Parts: sequence; structure tokens; C-alpha cells
Amino acid sequence: MKPQAVKGTHDILPAQVPAWRQLEQRVRQTLERAGAGEIRPPVFEHTETFIKTAGESSDLVVQKEMYTFTDRGERSLTLRPEFTPGFLRAYIQHGMHTWPSPVRLWGIGPVFRAENVQRGRYRQFHQVNYEVLGSDSALIDAETIALLYDALSATGLRNLRVRLGSVGDPDDRSAYNDYLREQLSPVADKLTETSQERLRLNPMRLLDAKDPGDRALIEKLRRPLEFLGSAAANHFAEVQDWLRAWDIPFDIDDSLVRGLDYYRRTAFEVHHLGIGAQSALSGGGRYDGLVESLGGPPTAGIGWAFGVERVLDALEEEGQQASDAERPLVFLVALDTEAVAEVAGLSRELRREVAVGYTLTSRKTARGLKDADRSGARFAALRGERERAAGTFEVKNLADGTQHTVAEDDLRRWLLDWENS
Ligand code: AMP
Repeated sequence: MKPQAVKGTHDILPAQVPAWRQLEQRVRQTLERAGAGEIRPPVFEHTETFIKTAGESSDLVVQKEMYTFTDRGERSLTLRPEFTPGFLRAYIQHGMHTWPSPVRLWGIGPVFRAENVQRGRYRQFHQVNYEVLGSDSALIDAETIALLYDALSATGLRNLRVRLGSVGDPDDRSAYNDYLREQLSPVADKLTETSQERLRLNPMRLLDAKDPGDRALIEKLRRPLEFLGSAAANHFAEVQDWLRAWDIPFDIDDSLVRGLDYYRRTAFEVHHLGIGAQSALSGGGRYDGLVESLGGPPTAGIGWAFGVERVLDALEEEGQQASDAERPLVFLVALDTEAVAEVAGLSRELRREVAVGYTLTSRKTARGLKDADRSGARFAALRGERERAAGTFEVKNLADGTQHTVAEDDLRRWLLDWENS
């Protein structure tokens, strides 16, 4: 059997890389124009960093999905299942609270989760992650959501919908959790095991339940938005005002909650209409208090992450083509043995300025032209005994079939002129 990549992981092949690169370039530009600095934290951290930020009730779910191992120094380490904890650890470690506030950070890279694999759900996938630390203003919430919308739009995506919700302040959350316990405890035995666990640890997360039986029980109940206190309600209204002022299309989702415990107030997701069941491209929210849970100073924070594979899927769904991989401008064909050394040497020289391919052995003209064609080159430049005697290359435009005799000393200029014309 052929060797296989680990289930849920993928090679990103040369033909796919241009799409990745284009996405990264566009997102980088959008975020850095808004004042975000790129950070490249390590791929693994002390397991503790992820446990502390997950909070008590998220433990079970998060730990089950983590790739955790013990290193030779008996340390428990974990491949990052998300970026945020590493960003916050770095924020504390490097004293970023003394930097001009708020601090905007972004990053891109692989994350690892031991998930059930299906379309759009992998074990190594990639995220673009963005966080703003040091401001609890509603304007920052709106800016952060707008930036997510703008970054996704910059990739070329249309058909985006923002879903906006609020989980309220901690007191509002507890009031809602009490309400859910009160309503659901009498019928707890009708819930699935996972939902029973949530009911015990963090009832609000029941709103994420997928099981139809669970849903039927939950859908009759009141929503988190109905429990917002006046501070959270005002904040929520202000976020909406900004988004409306900037024409960001959004829908209020009165049962939107986020997985981790530390979220408060604003929660949001961006969905794509068209990629099916795994339609969530991105999720995020406000998490004041999370920095403190890692031992840092009290710091307000808000952020989001989007899944790169999902966004690329959605772009493909919309029929959007990324720019091509770089193809040779010219493919040099050696028609005799002596010419092999000539074209190899010339390739090195020309490659300082343009992409060049060449034949490693001498070729008959027809075969050489076929090689040139397969390389995707625009031109084939033939070199044999006749051309050597005349000091020329025979250049064929592979797109339109026209042929030109070009002096060897002029070839570089000729190609560059054509490329720049
Ligand atoms: P989360 O960190 O769970 O809020 O996920 C943020 C985004 O990452 C999601 O909206 C997806 O686009 C993407 N994502 C999450 N889990 C996976 C996965 N297992 N495979 C691929 N993409 C994922």
C-alpha cells in the first residue's frame, strides 16, 4: 500500500498553493492596514495554557479534542487547537499591556484537533486569527467584526452573512444558566449524555445541541438575549448601530453562544451561503477576563478566527479562480549535447529575472516543443548546431505558434520586453 498522510491531514500541493498565497496576501493587507501586527507563536504550548483558558466546563470537550503528549522532560505539551491562548500567553510574557493600547495582533498557521473527520472538518487545518487586547468599547467590537467581514470580502468571497448575538455579562449569564437548569433539570433524563453534561457544567452551551430530541426541548425556552442586563444590552445596541452605519449586513441570532466559558457580551459568526452543513467560516467574541485567567493583568479582549480551508472551499463554490502558480516564461530546448550545457548555464542567468525551464538531455525538435508545452511555458527557445553557428535561438511563441530568430545576446532583453509589454 502507498504511504498515506495521517487521516484528517492534507498535503497542500503546488497547484493549490497560489490560492493559499493569494488569500494570505489579501488578508494580511486588510489586517495590517488596520494596525494589526503579525505574531508567529510556537505550534505547541504547555498544556496548562489551553486548560486554563478553556475554563472548567469546556474542559471535557476541549481536552478530548487536544493532541497532548509528554516530552522527554516529562512536561505535558499540546499542539495548539486554537491560537487565542498562545496569543494571550505571548501578550503577558512580553508585557504587551505597556504597548500603545489597544494591541491588535493577527496570525496564520495550522491548528490541530482530534475531531471526527468529514468534509470541512479536519484534524490539521489552518486558521487566520485576530485579537484586540486592551479595550472594552463597543466601537472595538464593531471594528473587529467589520474587519472580519472586510478580510473575508478581500479574499473575493461574496454571499457572506454575519450572525450577531450577545451572551451578556457574567451575572446575566448566571441568571440564564439558572433559568435553563430550572427548566431542564426535571426533564434531564430525556437529554443526550453530552447535553446532560452541559446542563451540569455550562447550561448555556445546550443551545449548540444538534440532537433533534434535545433541540425540541430547548427550542421552547427563552433565549440568552432576553436575559441581558442594561449594560450588556446598551453595549449590544451600540455594536449594531456601528455595523449599520458601515453597511455590514448582519442578522441577530438570539441563541448564538460560543463554545468556551470566557465569552461575554458580543458573540458572532460569519457563514457562507453555499458550502453546506459546515457553513461557519468564522467565529469569535469578547472574552474580558481571559488574560487574567492566565495570570496576566485584567485586560479586555475580543477576537475571531476563520478556517482557511473553509474559505477556500467557499471561493471554489463561487467559481472564483486564484492566480496561477508561476510558470516558466521560456523553456530552453537543447537539440544536441553541446547545447545542454549552454541552456543549463543560460537558465541560471535568466532565472535572476524570470522563470525558466530547460531540457536535461538533448531532444528532437518535436519532443523538445512538447516538453516546453507541458511545462506551461509561454515560449520555447531552441538551440542546436545551426543556431550555435549563427549565434541565435529559434524562439517559438507556444500560444500563437509564431516563430522568431533572436540573437543569443538579445534573448534576455527580448524576453523581458515581451514580459513587460
Ligand atoms: P473555532 O475556533 O472552533 O471557533 O473555529 C473557527 C473556524 O475554524 C470555524 O468557523 C471553521 O471555519 C474553522 N474550523 C473549525 N474546526 C475545523 C476543523 N476541524 N476543520 C476545518 N476547519 C475548522
